Amino acid sequence: MLDDLVALDKRHLIHPVVSWRGHEARGVRILTSGKGAYVTDAAGATLIDAFSGLWCVNAGYGQASIVDAVQRQLTEIPYATNYFHYGNEPAIRLAKRLSELAPGNLNRVFFTLGGSDAIDTAIRVIRYYFNVTGRPKKKHMIAFQRGFHGSSSLGSGLTALKNFHDDFDSPTPLQHHIASPYPYRNPVGQDPEHIIAVSVQALKDKVAEIGGENVAALFAEPVQGSGGVLVPPDGWFKAMRDAARDLDILFLADEVITGFGRTGPMFGSEYDGVVPDLMTLAKGLTSAYQPMGALMVSDEMYAAIADGSPSDRAIGHGFTYSGHPASAAAGFEAIRLYTEGGLLANGQKIAPRFAQGLTGLLDHPLVGDVRVRGLLAAVELVTDKKERTKPHANLQISQHLARLSYEKRVIFRAFSDDMAGFAPPLCCSEEDIDTIIRRFRSVLDELL
Ligand code: PLP
Repeated sequence: MLDDLVALDKRHLIHPVVSWRGHEARGVRILTSGKGAYVTDAAGATLIDAFSGLWCVNAGYGQASIVDAVQRQLTEIPYATNYFHYGNEPAIRLAKRLSELAPGNLNRVFFTLGGSDAIDTAIRVIRYYFNVTGRPKKKHMIAFQRGFHGSSSLGSGLTALKNFHDDFDSPTPLQHHIASPYPYRNPVGQDPEHIIAVSVQALKDKVAEIGGENVAALFAEPVQGSGGVLVPPDGWFKAMRDAARDLDILFLADEVITGFGRTGPMFGSEYDGVVPDLMTLAKGLTSAYQPMGALMVSDEMYAAIADGSPSDRAIGHGFTYSGHPASAAAGFEAIRLYTEGGLLANGQKIAPRFAQGLTGLLDHPLVGDVRVRGLLAAVELVTDKKERTKPHANLQISQHLARLSYEKRVIFRAFSDDMAGFAPPLCCSEEDIDTIIRRFRSVLDELL
């Protein structure tokens, strides 16, 4: 039975972000059930999931109240469009709840199916905004060199990871990247003030190069996730937000990973007290019990678009499943678990133990850097601590990491450039955190 499924997978299913031939050779591991922080696969192995699926199952597995909310909604009415002038109660209530929680006056919500189309929606909305408010030259968009903003045809151009561009004809000429803050490997050193100043200057230089009148927006993650969990110095995100305002460009906080307690507060922007002009959400929004993303914009931006558009024009942007009622029901209940259900507080409670456990790994001969904020972290491996030498050239560590992750029954993300990423569910106990650290240390020991 399992062999049959593996063979069928190889024959028919195209997986995201794999080498297609490589996947045929390697095959698939099929996950079948989950409870709390643990998942079980079809071969009967139980693993602790220190990556919450794909940094998305923030509430953990087996949350019966989310399942019940979805089931109730599907029974009542499985689909009620938000197109034109119809609507459904869960989407309306979720939009209101997000407005209450989001920073500042981000009070308007457009629902999508995930993060990539939330970014795509943002790109279209930003273009539309400048066109209808009389500044049609403002079309260029800037992001960071290790940033990730999904893989839609437009948004992938803002993503800066090489394999998302190679042979895909992206980015477009309207998309630009500036250096990421990467303290461990920063040519400018590790002084926080200096790193912040360098990022601000890089933005100013890029805007000057393109011409301020042509630049629409800066896209930034509070902590860059897929680029290697690059935790910036405190104050960095605020400095970028302020610089964007000074340069008269919009500031979008991409909170697809950092939202919903991942870094401690409800949203990563809160860490530095930032109020962005736009915010994108997905993943933890429903804790991945249903697919859903969102773009949030300020009341001012909404009003400018509403008033700037011809009154008889239906603004042509939307998806069949925008504000899907079952997804919205999952989102509303997931947020209830984060807030009244105490998951956000639990995440904050276990975060110091997580940070302590990971930084304790710095005594290991292969660990060069540990980066952590809340329950989001990366461990960067080196073969020579003093020289910070990357090991992949001689050890092909990332391949071994992926294998050992399974053997030692701890799921983390083995990044291709010798890093391990962690994002455990907010429901973890302190024992779960200790298990993650202990098992990961045994992975490292096997690499020696
Ligand atoms: N933005 C960020 C910061 C992400 O990390 C991701 C996915 O990991 C996306 C956007 C794209 O989200 P999705 O995979 O739901 O399309």
